[in-house]
Amino acid sequence: MDIAEYYDDIAQCNKCGFCQVACPIFRSTGHESGVARGRLALLRAIIEGRLEWDKELEGPLYDCLGCGACTANCAPSVPTADLIIKARNEYLEKVDRKPIHKMLFDYLLPYPRRLHLAARAVALGKNTGISSMARALGLLRIFGRDFSRAEGIIEKLPPLPFRDKFKPGVYEGDGETMRIGYFVGCGVDVIQQEAGEATLGLLKKLGKTVTLLNNCCCGLPAYSYGDIDAAKKLAAKNLDILSTDEFDVIVTDCASCSSFLKKYPEIFADDDRREQAETVASRFKDMVELIVPNEPVSVSPENPVVATYHDPCHLNRTLGITKEPREILKSLSNLEFVEMNDASRCCGMGGTFNITHYDLSMNILKHKLDTLETLGVEMIATGCSGCIFQFMDGIHQRGLKTRVVHIVEALEMG
Ligand code: SF4
Ligand code: SF4
Repeated sequence: MDIAEYYDDIAQCNKCGFCQVACPIFRSTGHESGVARGRLALLRAIIEGRLEWDKELEGPLYDCLGCGACTANCAPSVPTADLIIKARNEYLEKVDRKPIHKMLFDYLLPYPRRLHLAARAVALGKNTGISSMARALGLLRIFGRDFSRAEGIIEKLPPLPFRDKFKPGVYEGDGETMRIGYFVGCGVDVIQQEAGEATLGLLKKLGKTVTLLNNCCCGLPAYSYGDIDAAKKLAAKNLDILSTDEFDVIVTDCASCSSFLKKYPEIFADDDRREQAETVASRFKDMVELIVPNEPVSVSPENPVVATYHDPCHLNRTLGITKEPREILKSLSNLEFVEMNDASRCCGMGGTFNITHYDLSMNILKHKLDTLETLGVEMIATGCSGCIFQFMDGIHQRGLKTRVVHIVEALEMG
């Protein structure tokens, strides 16, 4: 891929600077190189031959969250996050692709079984203290500068992945006709079993049958990293599983997976699988789109759980879903919903950004934690595995009592 093909898009930037107020990186660092205007100037300099492709570009190309907040605040709607991904792709081709990413995207994520074995090994290491030893010895640094610290995000891992506890296959439901395919995201599979169990339980109430799919990673981590070939291979494996008339609807409970599955037609735009990708994407829904909330509760319960909601970037800016999660929370009789300031501001997780830029990522989260502390809420609900990890880490470090849940788990409090 050649970033020069997108010169006209890049040149749309009129240097107005309106993206500054929206960009979490700029708001945190104040550096022009971190804001869309600066990034676009960099891409332009590369195309015009004023900058060489070399390792110096890794920092500026990879310290973007891909949150899309700049585009939402940009009059010509320059798609900076997408352009950065295309530039990353060219960087990987021309400068450097790390062996750890090759292992992750080519040998681990395409195979759920291997991912489960790796997750069980990590759980064993973490829960028995072996990974603390590896961290102390600096061994985890082979995964990247900040990995050994980011690895602390999850305090304890479940000993068994979700799909080792609940095997892929068809489950009978109470619904009348709907046949549902449940696409399990990697985060839910290896870490957030509570969310997976809540989703499976709810889907069984809604569907006549629920097929717990043996899908692999949706491909978004590889795509965000700029490895578009690896992302396409992962997506193609999933298309083989999802392209069947056995499902009326396919759902997932991770906003990041939802956004990328809906992007499959674009991934296969020049490919003979485009039609297949379009059919799958048209049947695909995020979990919050499937839930029909009750009427908002007008009488406040006696001892409500005070809760708020964080908009995941992929649900809000990519898919435009903001109303549904709030309607769901407002309809729960044991819960009092309060809106948080800047609910749509990125939490700083940014896919693998937290792993590669841990301090900056936590600095971006600080603002949200301040808001939570001021609001004094007991619960924060959201709809993306990445955001859940990020809040859990920050809340734990700050010693807050706020519980972080997936919105489907909040529903169980009814
Ligand atoms: S808001 Fe858009 S046009 Fe204005 S400087 Fe930022 S990227 Fe360029
Ligand atoms: S995508 Fe997000 S982090 Fe990247 S430049 Fe735009 S606003 Fe900043």
